[in-house]
Amino acid sequence: MTMNDEQLLRYSRQLMMPDIEVAGQEKLLAASVAIVGLGGLGCPVALYLAAAGVGRLTLIDFDEVDMTNLQRQIAHRTEDVGRLKVASAADAIAAINPGTDVIQVTERLDEDNIDDMLNGIDVVVDGSDNFNTRFLVNDACVRRRIPLVSGAAIQLEGQLMVYDPADPDSPCYRCLYKTAGDEDMNCAEFGVAAPLVGVVGAMQAMETLKLIAGVGKSLAGFLLVFDARSAEWRKLKLPRNPDCAACGATRKTGS
Ligand SMILES: [Zn+2]
Repeated sequence: MTMNDEQLLRYSRQLMMPDIEVAGQEKLLAASVAIVGLGGLGCPVALYLAAAGVGRLTLIDFDEVDMTNLQRQIAHRTEDVGRLKVASAADAIAAINPGTDVIQVTERLDEDNIDDMLNGIDVVVDGSDNFNTRFLVNDACVRRRIPLVSGAAIQLEGQLMVYDPADPDSPCYRCLYKTAGDEDMNCAEFGVAAPLVGVVGAMQAMETLKLIAGVGKSLAGFLLVFDARSAEWRKLKLPRNPDCAACGATRKTGS
């Protein structure tokens, strides 16, 4: 792939960085990322990855834009209330970068369709708001050996983790949470501060860019926790669970 003049100009601030350069930018342009949930996290993820030059974004969300979403789901505008979130986000992406190829998926993810949905995907970004979807997405990523960038934000606290199948020490989301249990904290019940989802979503986009372009060292193996009250970040070592129902078996066979 050779970049045209418009692309060389558009991405010049990344191209000039030794960590990215032309080779890294070409990887971004050739990459295909799936974003699960076009809510508070998925919106900044989609906008930043489109702006950064990720070639194809598959947007997965069956929901429509609601008035209560507008406080934090920054790809959607007041006039988008009632529209499908993937359609609204696709418009926002096109306005920022018409070169981004967008695929809109409004099917509900389930055990039967998720593996096909991830065909050709290089990185999955999870911005969903419930444990069932998180586990479904995690387990599929482990099966398909696709890197997963998972984020969560509630009230004034956010967290982030990366599963990287290329890293043998990388735990998956299920290593951390094991089962859904009974607590499914979501913004509708507990609330969330608007900029917090931007902080976490931007970090998810950053980790995704790093994974694709081969920049630095990914967050894999750690849980990153942000407490907005104290403006403190904690990076906690996260061991993988050898008995994990999702990734334990694949690891034991040494694959
Ligand atoms: Zn695991």
